[in-house]
Amino acid sequence: MIPFDFDYYKPSSVPLAAEWFHLLQQQGKHPIYYAGGTEIVTWARTNDIHPGAVIDLKSVPECNVMEMQGDKLVIGSCVTLSALTAANPFPLLSETARGIADQTARNQITLGGNICGNIIYREAVLPLLLANSRIRIAGIEGIREASIHQVFSQKIRLEAGEFLVQIVTDRSDLSLPFVHIKKRQIGSVGYPLVTVAALKKDERIHTAYSGVCSFPFQSAAIDQVLNDTSLPLSARIDQAVGQLPAPLLSNVEGSAAFREFVLKQTMAEAVHTLERR
Ligand SMILES: Cc1cc2nc3c(=O)[nH]c(=O)nc-3n(C[C@H](O)[C@H](O)[C@H](O)COP(=O)(O)OP(=O)(O)OC[C@H]3O[C@@H](n4cnc5c(N)ncnc54)[C@H](O)[C@@H]3O)c2cc1C
Repeated sequence: MIPFDFDYYKPSSVPLAAEWFHLLQQQGKHPIYYAGGTEIVTWARTNDIHPGAVIDLKSVPECNVMEMQGDKLVIGSCVTLSALTAANPFPLLSETARGIADQTARNQITLGGNICGNIIYREAVLPLLLANSRIRIAGIEGIREASIHQVFSQKIRLEAGEFLVQIVTDRSDLSLPFVHIKKRQIGSVGYPLVTVAALKKDERIHTAYSGVCSFPFQSAAIDQVLNDTSLPLSARIDQAVGQLPAPLLSNVEGSAAFREFVLKQTMAEAVHTLERR
């Protein structure tokens, strides 16, 4: 049960969603955007958030598309992870989505909700970082487009009142050779100890990580070292781990030392696989 009352709005267009957010904010209702609701409902039940209003984006048509527009794949932020894996327009993204939660939860969890969520893993962002996807963002001023690298640094960086509408990816990046490896403490459902997603483009391997530090990331310094084939793979991996952007995560899923051990193995597996393709 959610132990407080809140207003529920379900706008049918992008401008209405942004306007209602703005108005509700002015009225002191502290609105939040709502997509799959898996995080919001959990946090509301545990009294960790207390929005006075939620704005459900699922009836906004632009947030529900999944189609090729010319040479670009456009995916709406409210497309669920299940729908993504079923349609499979971007195999690395499908594979990453399939590794998140279980089928029942994936029927609810949206691509936008995973990327914008507060829980630190946000695994669905990894393929978007690797493919240099672009993000369409709506706010009271209208819609703007930006590179994922401009708006996602450790977490999504939106202006107050903005929401994620669509993710745009070039066709040429959709079918590149890829690897996705997720290692958990136990079983086949759960948060990652280490997730590595990797693409091979123009004979270079590009990697991105979740579960390793307290945020998902891609690192040019790590990719530089991993692609230095003048060194043996074990030396490249030792150097790559020295380039992590933050301390290794230590939590209930695993200690920092255990994560380092798993990370090295997983990096080796990913690089070895892609070097042979
Ligand atoms: C059992 C279970 C296991 C899970 N395991 C994993 C895992 O291993 N790895 C992983 O990465 N995730 C995992 N998740 C998913 C994650 O924890 C979140 O619950 C989920 O990603 C939230 O998505 P949602 O669509 O339900 O978002 P919501 O709960 O609707 O929203 C989450 C947050 O994002 C904001 N938001 C949502 N959509 C938008 C938008 N379009 N624009 C701007 N802000 C928006 C909301 O305001 C809210 O702050 C798991 C979830 C469950 C339930």
